[in-house]
This record gives sequence, C-alpha cells and structure tokens, in this order.
Amino acid sequence: MRLERATNQHIAAGVILSDLQRDQARSDADVEVVRQRIIKDQELLDSGSINDPKQLTNLQHELESLARRRTELEDVELEIMERIEGAEAAVSVLADQVTSLSSELESVTESLSQLTSALDADITEVQAERDRISAQLPSDLLALYEKIRSGHDGVGAAKLHRAQCEGCRMTLPPQELQSIRQAPADLVVQCEECRRILVRTSDSGL
Ligand SMILES: [Zn+2]
Repeated sequence: MRLERATNQHIAAGVILSDLQRDQARSDADVEVVRQRIIKDQELLDSGSINDPKQLTNLQHELESLARRRTELEDVELEIMERIEGAEAAVSVLADQVTSLSSELESVTESLSQLTSALDADITEVQAERDRISAQLPSDLLALYEKIRSGHDGVGAAKLHRAQCEGCRMTLPPQELQSIRQAPADLVVQCEECRRILVRTSDSGL
C-alpha cells in the first residue's frame, strides 16, 4: 500500500537524519578539542616562556599539524551539514506524502461508507418489496419457489427469454417450447434442465 510504504520511508529517513545529527555533534566536539589545543599552544608560544629552540620548533610544528587537523575536521563537519540538509529535505517531502495519502485514504473510506449505507438502504427496500409480493403468492407456489431457490444459488425462478432459460442458459428444445406454448397461463412451468420456475413474457419466443 502506498501510504504504508511512504510511512516506512518517512520513518527510515528520520532515522538517517538523527544518525547524521549525532555525527554532527561528535564532529563539532572533535573540532572544539583541536581549537582549544591550538589556543593553548598559541598562548604558550606568545608568552615567551619557552627559550629552548628545539622546544620552540616542536611547538611550531605541533601548531602547524593542529591547523591541518582542524581543516580536515571542518571539511568533515561541512560534509555532514550538507548531508543533513538533504536528509531534512527527504523527511519533509515524505511527511507531505504521508499527509496527502492519509487524507486520500480518509476520503476513499468516507465514500465507501456512503456507498455501503446506500446499498444497505437498497437491500432494505428490496427486501420489503419481496415480502410484500410473496405475501400475495399462493403458499404452494411460494413453497416450490423457496425449495428450488435453496438448491440453486438463491435463484428459484428465471425468465424464459427467446427460448432460453435465463437460469441455466439452456435453449429449450422445440417440443418443450410447444408444450409451454399450449400450457395455460396460470400453470407453473419449470425448466427441464435446472427445474427453475420459468417466467413467461412477450419476449419468451413462444
Ligand atoms: Zn434452466
């Protein structure tokens, strides 16, 4: 699901961002250590308290090496900052996606619920109509209909349409059609194949 995928990606991007923020804190601390060390050495050098030329040279060398180290660490710091910017942008894009997909899902759920309510209302209406009609039918016909219906996927009667039973789709043979044609209008006729009650109309092909 798109929402689930976007949510997972958003969480993963958040984890990457917080890892980078931790790296940044560590990198800041590294730079600060070197910076303090440079200040200390520089103060020592400026104080004039060191007279030994070898010691002075060593101190100068150390200061040069500390300066190089600081540049390296600052480069790392910059790189982490750039990566943080990228991660923040990804987190923000994914957060927008999650929000938009959530609201999409909400609106689809709402539509579905409206459709379900409408269908429920239709079912109630059809059921009431069915109850009204079945109350008017002779009880033996109703009993036959219910009996066939229970064994035939809930369809107890079918239209005879252009010589075809709409229940099982069988085309009735001519002699069968002939006997139906001759049967009185109030006689219950059934399909030879599926036994469903055949409802005769002007389109029955009789
Ligand atoms: Zn049939």
